[in-house]
Amino acid sequence: MHEELQDKCGVVGIHCGDNSQDVSRFVYFCLYALQHRGQESAGIATYNSENGLNYYCGMGLITDVFKDYEINNLSGNIGIGHVRYSTTGQSRLENSQPFVTDFDNGFIAMAHNGDIVNSESLRDELIEKGYEFKSNTDSEVICYLLKQEHYDNGKDIIDSIEAVSKKLVGSYALTIIVNGELYAVRDPAGMKPLCIGEKNGSYIVASETVALDVINANFIRDVTPGEVISFQNDEINSHILEITKDTHLAHCMFEYVYFARPDSAIDGINVYESRLNIGKQLYEQFPIDADYVIPVPDSSIPAAIGYSRASGIPYAEGLIKNRYVGRTFIMPTQEERELAVRLKLNPIKDAIKGKKIILIDDSIVRGTTSKSLIELVKEAEPAEIHFLVGCPPVIAPCYYGVAMATKNELIAANYTTEEIRKQLDIDSLGYISLESLVKAIGMPAEDLCLGCLNECYPTDLPDNIEAETYFKP
Ligand code: AMP
Repeated sequence: MHEELQDKCGVVGIHCGDNSQDVSRFVYFCLYALQHRGQESAGIATYNSENGLNYYCGMGLITDVFKDYEINNLSGNIGIGHVRYSTTGQSRLENSQPFVTDFDNGFIAMAHNGDIVNSESLRDELIEKGYEFKSNTDSEVICYLLKQEHYDNGKDIIDSIEAVSKKLVGSYALTIIVNGELYAVRDPAGMKPLCIGEKNGSYIVASETVALDVINANFIRDVTPGEVISFQNDEINSHILEITKDTHLAHCMFEYVYFARPDSAIDGINVYESRLNIGKQLYEQFPIDADYVIPVPDSSIPAAIGYSRASGIPYAEGLIKNRYVGRTFIMPTQEERELAVRLKLNPIKDAIKGKKIILIDDSIVRGTTSKSLIELVKEAEPAEIHFLVGCPPVIAPCYYGVAMATKNELIAANYTTEEIRKQLDIDSLGYISLESLVKAIGMPAEDLCLGCLNECYPTDLPDNIEAETYFKP
């Protein structure tokens, strides 16, 4: 069986009506703003009517991959970009995106955020038809499916996307360049975020609104679940995929809990606001008497502020994060892994010593981070540690692009909250409830994908599906 790739990534697409303008620098800045969505590899493809498609991909952070030389070499008024998220054992240049292949005497380039759960069987069918695969990416599967519809069945691009969407099961936010035209597609359940903005007559599609903010573009709207957008000259044309009418919404709750940047808004909901609400809800569930509320930086800061505001307990920075810890640390031994946590976080000992503290984290997945974290905090000798978590127990894997872990690695799938509290040896441990989380996000539960929390997945899943574990720097 081939290794399947989970792609919780960031995607961008820019269309500038003026074909004397190069968009690569704007794509670069948008990717820079989306770096939190993937640090494994980065790539940009641009199209220019004179010399066609140009692209460049590399391993590492956007600043490692692109210097002025690479950016300047990517000419063209249409561009797409991708940053890829790191999962264990998948670190290969061939898997970096955009994926590029020939198409209709030209080229197709595709950037994908999401995970196609039936990609293995689709891939096997394509191999039988003679397609040779160069990577493990879903983008390659989707590109070949599009080729098939276009060549064999003579369909235009929108009709080809329509036909392919009926075969795809899973999540996808796509930006695609096909022979000088830009398309953006969002899966019918809206699992992955995608929004559109505008700047001086150019259109930008991106995974998160922060990518629009960085280039000072105006937010227009979210791409509708099941929408295909094509960009032509000064227009955007919208087409809704037929399967959308038979599909329930399933926006990923983890975007609000952890994944997205707090200064983004997704599907009309401000991520920062949701996280403040998570803190308020935690206070309603667990009104603890303490001296300080302390976040595990950075992702838990808004929830800790929310708890502090609701409770009146002072918010304090008790842990300082070293922001320069890169992603390239691969730690083979336990000793090195422990050292890596120390490298990343350090307690302010005098602030914590002798105090009753409420420590807030966004989520516990495998539980390894919390163990090292609590050990570190204990060295500062607090009087009490109460650990509150802004995500309900993660009891099942995600198959749609958040490489959580396999079920036997998920601590909450194997131990009760009380057992985890004992393992951590702390005064109390509390997870936000599913109902409170839904309330905090501010969206009806039926519009959210909560599969990793309640095992109710929004699509059928193949029997042999395997879960992946994320790689933690
Ligand atoms: P652990 O419980 O050791 O797996 O680590 C959980 C912490 O890792 C959380 O507090 C998040 O900050 C972060 N985290 C949770 N899920 C993911 C994920 N899928 N990918 C990357 N980081 C994550």
